[in-house]
Amino acid sequence: MKKLLSFINNQKTLEDKYFSVVILVGVVLVISSAIVTYAEKLSPVANIATLASALMLIGVFFVAYRLHKMDLARLMLCYILNCFVIPMAFFFCGGIDSGMPLYMVAGVFLLIPVLKGPQRIICLIISFLIDIICIIVSYFYMPGAKVSSVPKPDILTHLTLEARFIDMINSLILIGMYLILTTGLIMNAYQKEKEAREALLVKLENLSKIDELTGLYNRRELFNYLENTPLFKDDRFYMIMMDMDHFKNQNDTYGHSFGDSVLKAFALVLKETIKHEDEIVARYGGEEFMMIIKADSLDQAFKRIDDARKTFEDMKWDVDKNLKITFSAGLIHAADYSNVTEAISAADKLLYQAKKSGRNMIMTAL
Ligand code: GH3
Ligand code: MG
Ligand code: MG
Repeated sequence: MKKLLSFINNQKTLEDKYFSVVILVGVVLVISSAIVTYAEKLSPVANIATLASALMLIGVFFVAYRLHKMDLARLMLCYILNCFVIPMAFFFCGGIDSGMPLYMVAGVFLLIPVLKGPQRIICLIISFLIDIICIIVSYFYMPGAKVSSVPKPDILTHLTLEARFIDMINSLILIGMYLILTTGLIMNAYQKEKEAREALLVKLENLSKIDELTGLYNRRELFNYLENTPLFKDDRFYMIMMDMDHFKNQNDTYGHSFGDSVLKAFALVLKETIKHEDEIVARYGGEEFMMIIKADSLDQAFKRIDDARKTFEDMKWDVDKNLKITFSAGLIHAADYSNVTEAISAADKLLYQAKKSGRNMIMTAL
């Protein structure tokens, strides 16, 4: 059963999954019909007919999964079922007296999801016409038919009242089983596909928000946050703009990939600084970062970011044990400004002053 489910789930699209279910269940159903036909002691030709049907469906399976001609296999399945297997079984298994008209209905409805566009319509019309012809022919030519003037071929079966009842029950059970099995397997395949799509959506959403190198939020997500947070109404928000000191030198001396690893390490230090869920740290640009934190006072905000500064300054680097890498920052109280542009420009100016005043420091507005 596990192998069967993984075979179905491995099909790429939901249509392919449905087709694989139909063909698998179809093969099982036709083989069980062959057994039932044999058990009901109908004519030997009826046994051959159901056996031939099973072989044809196995042929469709082969075309689909060995030759990988899915479109051809879909067409073959629909025409073989509706124009050959079901009409043949209809005549040999009791015609209009039997439960076969139920299979006709099931066969026609099966086409709806398997085929597409004009192919579906054409196949539906042809199948429907063949079914009607079968029913009319059965009415006149089946042994026991009311019209006595037409010859009745011996190989066609006429069912007694009791046999009709049993056949009807058998047909209902088989079609019921078919529906339950098909629906169950399709639901399972649909559920798996839905889970995979949801996981993919979450992944894509994260990719669109997260900076690949540092794992921090990217600039787009930062601005999304800035526009949707009451930065200028709630006076607990503080904005910090940060820039690595002499980072070009680090790149030139130790290589760009070392520079990348420094940015990753810096991102981890900043992440540690975040305490509340409505705070954010993001990569603003190359080696520039922005943080929004909540604090009761400027001193408290300053202390949090200055602790991060000290932690980063004290980090040891493999390339040179004595190397110190630092950053500078501008810190502002968001409520002192009225919009994002003003706030960023003020934080930027303070950052510039920190650089001018010797770097490795946090500059605040007095
Ligand atoms: P300052 O102290 O004045 O800021 O000096 P600086 O050398 O850091 O000057 P600036 O901020 O203008 O330099 C930015 C450098 O950061 C230049 C660029 O090569 C480097 N950089 C930007 N993005 C990345 C990145 O993703 N990886 C690495 N390794 N380096 C980057
Ligand atoms: Mg810079
Ligand atoms: Mg810099």
